[in-house]
Amino acid sequence: MRSVTLRPEAHRRLLAGHPWVYSNEIVMDPAAKAIEPGSLVRLLQADGRPLAQAFFNPQTLIAARLLTRDLDAPIDAGFFAARLERARRLRDRLYQAPYYRLVHAEADGIPGAVVDRFGSLCVVQINTAGMERLQSVFLAALEQVLAPEAILMRSDSTARTQEGLAAEVTWAKGKLDPPVELLENGLRFLCDPVGGQKTGWFYDQRESRAAVARLAAGAKVLDLYSYAGGFALAAAGAGASDVLAIDRSEAALALAEKAAGLNGLAGRCRFRRAEAFEALEKLAPGDRFDIVVADPPAFVKSKKDAKQGARGYRKLARLAAHATAREGFLFIASCSHNMPAEEFGHQVARGLIDAGRDGRILRAAGAAADHPQHPWLPESAYLKSLLLQLD
Ligand code: SAH
Repeated sequence: MRSVTLRPEAHRRLLAGHPWVYSNEIVMDPAAKAIEPGSLVRLLQADGRPLAQAFFNPQTLIAARLLTRDLDAPIDAGFFAARLERARRLRDRLYQAPYYRLVHAEADGIPGAVVDRFGSLCVVQINTAGMERLQSVFLAALEQVLAPEAILMRSDSTARTQEGLAAEVTWAKGKLDPPVELLENGLRFLCDPVGGQKTGWFYDQRESRAAVARLAAGAKVLDLYSYAGGFALAAAGAGASDVLAIDRSEAALALAEKAAGLNGLAGRCRFRRAEAFEALEKLAPGDRFDIVVADPPAFVKSKKDAKQGARGYRKLARLAAHATAREGFLFIASCSHNMPAEEFGHQVARGLIDAGRDGRILRAAGAAADHPQHPWLPESAYLKSLLLQLD
C-alpha cells in the first residue's frame, strides 16, 4: 500500500477524531500526485509515524478520507460487512420496518457511500473515487449482510463530478420495475428509485412528517414541493380534512395520488401540477390553510448562489406565511448544504415580518436519525427545518 505524508501539525485534527485531511495539509510531491484517485493509502505523520488507512484523491480538496485507524485491518468485504451490520443494528432499533437509510457515509464509517433500503431493494449511491474503486467489495459485503433481492446503483449525484466520476444508473443485482412501495409512519408510499430524485425517497423528513401529522386532525393542509406526497399523505393519514399537494413534477404527483388510493385517502387529497411560487401568488387573499408545508429543493446549490438562495427562502417564508391561517402552522425546510441553520432561521424570520406575521418556533429539526452525523462534520447536517405557529 502507498503512503502519503501529512505536513507538520496536520495530524492534530486527525488525532482529535476528524475523518478528513485537506489537500493543503498533505505533502503533495510528485509521488503523491501520481497516486490514482481513490487509492487506499497509509497516512503518515510528518515524522513518519503511521496514523491510519484512508482513501486518497490528489485531485480533490478533501484529499484523504479516513477509513480506519487500525493499520493492519484488511479493507475487504469482511471490513465493510462489520460496518454494515452495525448500521443495520442501529436502524432496526430505530424503525419497525426495513425502510430506511442504511448507510449515511462518514457517520456510518463508510465515507463516500449512501444506501437507502426499501425492503428487499437496496439503492446505493457511490460519491467518491475511493468507494468507486471498492464498489465490488462493498457490494459483496452488502450481499453478505442483507442478501437483497435487487441492488440499484443510483450513482448520479453531482458530487461525483468533483471526484472525476461519471454518472451511472445501473442494476448491480436483480431488477424491480418502479414504482416501489415503502412504509413510513404506518402509511404506504410509492417511489421511483430509477427515475425519481436522489434514491427515490427522502427518508430524511420522516420525523418531521410525523411532527406535522400530529397537528393535522381536521386541518386544511397545503403541501408545497410535495414530491411523492410524503407530507401530504402523512397529514391526510392523521385526519386532515382537505390536503392540496403541489409539485411541478407530474410523475411525482402521480405516485402521490396512487399512494393516496392505497391508503384510502384519495377522497381528502388533491394533487396539482404547478410552480410553487406562482401557485402561492395566485392564491386568493382569503384562501388560507391550517398547515402549510414548504420543503423545496436546494435553493443554494453552490456557495456563489448563497445570496440569491437566501432571498429565495425569505420569499418562500413570506408567501407561505400569507397562505397560513391565524393560529395555523408553517413547516419550512432547507436542504441546502451551503445554508447554515442560523442563516436559514434568519431568512425565515425576515420572511414572516415581510408578511406581517408574528409567531413562535415549536420545533427546529434536522434529518431523521437514520441520517446520523459524524461528530466532527457538523457541515454534513444539510437539512434544516422549522415548525412554527403563526398569529
Ligand atoms: N417534500 C418532499 C420532498 C421535496 S423534493 C418529501 O417530503 O418527500 C423537492 C420537490 O420540489 C421535487 O419533487 C421537485 O419536483 C419539486 N420542485 C422543484 N422545483 C419546483 C418548483 N419551482 N415548483 C414546484 N415544485 C418544484
